[in-house]
Amino acid sequence: MQQIYKDVGLEVQEIKRLTEDSYAVRLKLNGVKFDYYAGQFIMLKFDPLKETEDFKVLNNIPKTQSRAYSMSSSPVNSDFLEITSKKTPNGFISDYMLKVLRPGDIIKVSGPYGKFYVDENENENLFLIGAGSGISPLMSILRFYLDKSKNSKVIMLFSNKKFSDIIWYDELNTMQKTHEEFKCFFTLTQKDHEDWNGFEGRINGEMIKKCVGDINNYKFYICGPPLMVDSTIIDLKNLGVEISRIKIEKYD
Ligand SMILES: Cc1cc2nc3c(=O)[nH]c(=O)nc-3n(C[C@H](O)[C@H](O)[C@H](O)COP(=O)(O)OP(=O)(O)OC[C@H]3O[C@@H](n4cnc5c(N)ncnc54)[C@H](O)[C@@H]3O)c2cc1C
Repeated sequence: MQQIYKDVGLEVQEIKRLTEDSYAVRLKLNGVKFDYYAGQFIMLKFDPLKETEDFKVLNNIPKTQSRAYSMSSSPVNSDFLEITSKKTPNGFISDYMLKVLRPGDIIKVSGPYGKFYVDENENENLFLIGAGSGISPLMSILRFYLDKSKNSKVIMLFSNKKFSDIIWYDELNTMQKTHEEFKCFFTLTQKDHEDWNGFEGRINGEMIKKCVGDINNYKFYICGPPLMVDSTIIDLKNLGVEISRIKIEKYD
């Protein structure tokens, strides 16, 4: 059975800006043996939130706050946990981490939690479908598969509004070049790039079919906003994919 940690204090090692409103936070493990499966999430507790000129906790809201974040790191890496966050409109903690959090700060971490994961012995071909910050657990799963040289195929279809919103774009392209078993497709719902030669529009069945020949040889992992996840499940069912071959995580 998996060990679940409660409020382990981990130090912020690095905060890496990825796009205008997204970033990765790395937490040093410093010898803590934090076992998890690729795709799972942790609870981050800010206890208490720091206040600065730029950031105040408003409206008598408690100064201790917790939020769920999927890990984007591979469990093979025992040096740090990484989460990938995108600031939400009117966001609170997603704004705090960008504005106030600094290397050296301590965050209380609980977990790992969740059933959206691949376990160590998984060897199936994977089709990862994500939108926006939904890339986070998919990145963990992808990194894990490539770290383990599974010899299985991995396809990713990643939807964003604009080109400048694509989180981990360079890293995904580098992985494609260095691992022939991995193929990544992007779609933009509000194309803002003249030379764009990826897909355009929301993820749909036609698009999925263009990414893969033998759809029944893949297991599907979908992560993103609830509407996107629900419509993709319908698309996959219409393409004949069995529901037992689809795993989902919704970010409300
Ligand atoms: C299983 C799971 C995994 C997830 N994984 C990820 C992930 O990998 N990456 C990711 O980006 N997200 C992830 N999420 C979403 C994440 O948990 C948060 O919901 C998201 O980051 C938004 O949190 P927030 O505090 O910024 O916004 P909210 O929780 O929506 O807070 C906004 C509210 O706070 C108020 N507010 C804003 N500023 C202040 C202030 N200074 N003082 C007082 N109140 C204020 C606003 O008025 C508004 O009402 C996940 C969610 C789940 C359920």
